[in-house]
Amino acid sequence: MKVAVVGGGISGLVIAYRLRSRGRDAVLLESSSRLGGAVGTRARDGYLVEQGPNSFLDREPATRELAAALNLEGRIRAADPAAKRRYVYTRGRLRSVPASPPAFLGSDILPLGARLRVMGELFTGRAPEGVDESLAQFGRRHLGRMATEVLLDAVQTGIYAGDVERLSVAATFPPLVKLEREHRSLILGAIRTQKAQRAQQKALPAGTGVTGGTAAPPKLSGALSTFEGGLQTLIGALTAALGDAARVGARVEGLERVEGGWRLAVEERGQRSELTAEQVVLAVPAHVATRLLHPLDATLAARVGEIEYAPIAVVHLGFDAGTTPAPDGFGFLVPSGEKRRLLGSIHASTTFPFRVEGGRVLYTCMVGGARQPELVKLEEPALAQLAREELKALAGVTATPSFSEVIRWPAGIPQYNVGHLERVAAIDAALQRWPGLHLTGNAFKGIGLNDCIRNGLQLADTLAGR
Ligand SMILES: Cc1cc2nc3c(=O)[nH]c(=O)nc-3n(C[C@H](O)[C@H](O)[C@H](O)COP(=O)(O)OP(=O)(O)OC[C@H]3O[C@@H](n4cnc5c(N)ncnc54)[C@H](O)[C@@H]3O)c2cc1C
Repeated sequence: MKVAVVGGGISGLVIAYRLRSRGRDAVLLESSSRLGGAVGTRARDGYLVEQGPNSFLDREPATRELAAALNLEGRIRAADPAAKRRYVYTRGRLRSVPASPPAFLGSDILPLGARLRVMGELFTGRAPEGVDESLAQFGRRHLGRMATEVLLDAVQTGIYAGDVERLSVAATFPPLVKLEREHRSLILGAIRTQKAQRAQQKALPAGTGVTGGTAAPPKLSGALSTFEGGLQTLIGALTAALGDAARVGARVEGLERVEGGWRLAVEERGQRSELTAEQVVLAVPAHVATRLLHPLDATLAARVGEIEYAPIAVVHLGFDAGTTPAPDGFGFLVPSGEKRRLLGSIHASTTFPFRVEGGRVLYTCMVGGARQPELVKLEEPALAQLAREELKALAGVTATPSFSEVIRWPAGIPQYNVGHLERVAAIDAALQRWPGLHLTGNAFKGIGLNDCIRNGLQLADTLAGR
């Protein structure tokens, strides 16, 4: 059985790799000149800069399994413990995000009235059945207006760069909806879940876990992590494993159903060719999938095309050793209500000190998102200047950076807006009409690297089992 995987981001790479390691004939077609899609690391002037994602949480067994298969487990690097501290810019300054409920009550992250309102969450009722609430609606019901505007907005900004009034809570934070469904109150649900986990830990036979024998699954640290050399290390290992089976500079321009499978029209270095396969996996952004699907099934294409993207610009600013103090914590986020031009900044050199040489300081600023898409169109020097001004205003960084790098993602982050789950279910149902055609990637069932890896491995295993 031959499988053509279209799109060489992490999703497509993982699928092609897994299929081939299960002895299946899979070919990967990537339109750009390099594999990795949004993932990529560049080493320049003593800095390791990430073009897109910075890290993943080491809590996904599929990611660990992939790392182990590629012999990369020993190269996973956990974030510095200092990165546990995070900041939100609110009411005129950076404030530390409290790490526990008692710390929250005593903190200044929200004014006292708003903190007490959060405690009133214990009395929240359940949402009416069948309503796909926005994150803001859900937040206001449970936590109150201010906690929603400051905390929930900041949290979603760090992941989706979205609009809290438009994102679907069920699609973006399914565990919150599950907690509500099962326990009514999130606080109550969190307490009960923690208790149950502790009881489960106690009940485990001694020796279970990472030190308990070779059969035990690897213990996940739960820590924010990357690889030595940055996330490119993962892409490099997948690229090496795929060898000639991955074709870069190969843009798929057409898709046609033929007897026993599919025919793809491929544009490769100015040459047009055709490729037939029994199964096709589209692991491309939704707007590309829409175009490919349109001649085949206009209704399916239209549903896929409804998935919006928020543009985002990544602006790295580097400072020579001794010119500015090393910032504390993982970084800070800026709620949209603050009306600033920065979504937030990652303190990359504090989080992963190995990513800079000789005491340099690296800030990774994010600009744009669903609320300020126009900023991403600015020229690169203007974006670097904007980030500099905002870092000065928000975090008091007055030194002059000696390094900058700007990466713009016009279709950066898929937005799982209200209606997303219904849309994805309709897409899945429509795909039933097209045996051998599969859609995956970050537009549908999870945008994190962990989601893309888990979904990719699952799809490959399903295909390999056929
Ligand atoms: C700025 C930024 C920061 C992020 N931070 C994090 C983070 O810290 N942690 C985290 O877990 N996630 C993060 N993410 C999300 C995560 O990086 C992405 O969701 C994930 O990398 C998407 O992988 P993908 O393979 O699904 O899609 P993509 O990476 O978009 O890959 C799709 C590929 O398809 C190719 N393609 C397009 N058209 C064609 C065609 N016609 N023919 C062939 N190939 C084609 C593209 O060139 C591309 O390589 C971030 C994303 C961005 C943009």
